[in-house]
Amino acid sequence: MDNTIEENLKEVRERIKNSCEKVGREPAEITLIAATKNVPPDRIKEAVKCGINIIGENRVQEALSKYESIKESVKWHMIGHLQTNKVKKAIELFEMIQSVDSIRLAEEIQKRASNAGKVLDVLVEVNTSKEETKYGLKVEETVKFLKRIRSFDNIRVKGFMTIGIFTPYPEQVRPCFKTLRNLKRDAEEAGIELKHLSMGMSSDFEVAIEEGSSMVRIGTSIFGKRD
Ligand SMILES: *Cc1c(COP(=O)(O)O)cnc(C)c1O
Repeated sequence: MDNTIEENLKEVRERIKNSCEKVGREPAEITLIAATKNVPPDRIKEAVKCGINIIGENRVQEALSKYESIKESVKWHMIGHLQTNKVKKAIELFEMIQSVDSIRLAEEIQKRASNAGKVLDVLVEVNTSKEETKYGLKVEETVKFLKRIRSFDNIRVKGFMTIGIFTPYPEQVRPCFKTLRNLKRDAEEAGIELKHLSMGMSSDFEVAIEEGSSMVRIGTSIFGKRD
């Protein structure tokens, strides 16, 4: 029999706590985001009952289709690649867009947020794995990109997001997470303070926490395997 969502969440929280202890961090420093792509609203609501208050969705369309049944009980973060033609809808729904990966997208968010009279929190997605199939800024272009979008009045850059290399061995992902952590330091040396590093998924969140993650995005370990 599969575990319940409640049991899974208990275990995830325990693992977060243990990783924190290992490196002298506080579990309160880590925001747990439930990654809910392909998860139906009733199962998301179950997670919300067990204390989940932020969910991460990958597609605007899917998020919209779930929105009516879940709505205000949680905050919504966009964690998947965002097409510019979906930005208008996205800024109505999402509290944070974690996947800003091009100047064109940043410009569109700026324009739409300005029209809507909003200031939107965003993370800049960085391709730390250098895998061609992955979205995100090139590491060496990231600080320059930050400097550029810092002047956008309706965007607040809160940090970086990355997806590590795809591997069953978490230790192999560590260099990706170190890269993101170093980028935060580079940004700070350039005078740009950032709060968040969104890194770590079911297979690698413990390593991510050891490397300074402040947001982990976890799907499978909470909801079980996706179809
Ligand atoms: C699916 C997804 C996750 C969660 O992945 P799991 O391995 O199921 O924990 C995290 N971040 C992003 C961007 C995702 O698309």
